[in-house]
Amino acid sequence: MSVTRRGFLRGAAALAAGLVLPLSARGLAQPRFTASPFTLGVASGYPHASGMTLWTRLVDPGLPGAPVEVHWELAEDEAFRTIAARGTATASSALAHSVHVDVTGLAPARPYWYRFRAGEALSPVGRTRTAPGREDAPPRMRFAVAACQQYEQGYFTAFRHMAREDLDLVVHLGDYVYESSWGRNHVRAHGAEEPYTLDDYRGRYALYKNDADLQAAHAAFPWLVTWDDHEVDNDYANDRSQDLDPREIFLARRAAAYQAYYEHMPLPAWARPRGADLRLYGSASYGGLAAFFVLDTRQYRSHQACARPNRGGGNVVREEDCAARRDPALTMLGSAQESWLNESVRRSGARWNVVAQQTLMAQADRREGPGADYWTDGWDGYPRARERLLASLANPGVSNPLVVSGDVHMAAVTDLRRDFDDPRSPVVATEFVCPSIASQGPTLKRVELILQENPHIKFANGARRGYTTIELTANRCVSRMRTIASEKEPDSPIRTLSTYSVESGRPGAQRG
Ligand code: FE
Ligand code: CA
Repeated sequence: MSVTRRGFLRGAAALAAGLVLPLSARGLAQPRFTASPFTLGVASGYPHASGMTLWTRLVDPGLPGAPVEVHWELAEDEAFRTIAARGTATASSALAHSVHVDVTGLAPARPYWYRFRAGEALSPVGRTRTAPGREDAPPRMRFAVAACQQYEQGYFTAFRHMAREDLDLVVHLGDYVYESSWGRNHVRAHGAEEPYTLDDYRGRYALYKNDADLQAAHAAFPWLVTWDDHEVDNDYANDRSQDLDPREIFLARRAAAYQAYYEHMPLPAWARPRGADLRLYGSASYGGLAAFFVLDTRQYRSHQACARPNRGGGNVVREEDCAARRDPALTMLGSAQESWLNESVRRSGARWNVVAQQTLMAQADRREGPGADYWTDGWDGYPRARERLLASLANPGVSNPLVVSGDVHMAAVTDLRRDFDDPRSPVVATEFVCPSIASQGPTLKRVELILQENPHIKFANGARRGYTTIELTANRCVSRMRTIASEKEPDSPIRTLSTYSVESGRPGAQRG
């Protein structure tokens, strides 16, 4: 047994006994903890063939203002007998004592276990996994897609079930926290007002991340993450808030929210916030089998067209009353991200190309009968930008494009067509919209109307909470909508609500 291993065990025993041991001074502050500072759990993210990012955050009233030394180690086995990498990171109050470690030098396509130590306190153990190498052709990969977890509206039971699945990766598409309290039949409370300051947002993340089910899903798999609006403010677009706050004031709020997001996510160093900006879009690849393109549709988008008077945010508009919606200058991604995506998918070479982004991409007419109403906060508010994105995916050099989406609190399967109004228009990609983890969904009547008006939407269910799993092999993609019986009960069982598949080379989903 190594010295470090004994030290870890001593620390664990001391904590269990409630003792505070004398601590060695080593330059940086050596804090004394009366309880574990690792109550927000551990996480890993952005796996690649030789590493990933490890995350934790220390929380304790006794944390000093000075930076704290945090030791980390990553092993080939759960008992930490064979250490593959170890090191020391610095947790500073400037980043809420969060720790982000970009580990490199690991072997491809294998599991690893990791943990942290601060003073004599030991973190829980997390399991993670490297991606296959660029030249590898893994026989299969499985990932889960999740979004929308309004804490007050439901328990995170779905995450407990997700942690027990056999997955390589979790992709989270945003609304990880909610800034506002809303909805029916709350099972628990935020216990705080809407956040505006950095401290407010840190408190909101700490509340959500205290949830044991959410922690279990983080500790079980590496995650790719992106945000939607509620990590900052409902329906915000770039520098415009729903309430039309003065721009500088809203950007200061956005900077606080973005920083808190970074502090609580397993994001690599390249995502460190810079003022009011945070580069969140990025890609990850799984050998020749799959590539993921994670988008940010909030930070760079144009303001929503045809907003209500004296309001920002989205609006339901009649097609004939909102020509501005079709302005080609409107963008969802901003020009830099749009070029990056075009270039990245073109060069991918992967069998399956998964675009991971926030909201329903398929057109969704909401008016019964002739004519159409559209919701302008989603892709329906930016139809030219959607055409550009689909044109880029329709490039014959892009093999098997898939789009995974969240936001609408409704599991759905759609055929993404070049022209949604023409049923003979070719299907470019298949879209899987995940159910929400906890946020309440649309009424049955609304879901039925959407299905009736939009034949390219093949399946929709807004009644159940859960997540979607997707299994990729060379020839097939199988998507399962996994839903819990009730988010209002803490121990609800999970089942597969519906299964859809896509054959390689034949875009469009088939039932079963
Ligand atoms: Fe949501
Ligand atoms: Ca209609």
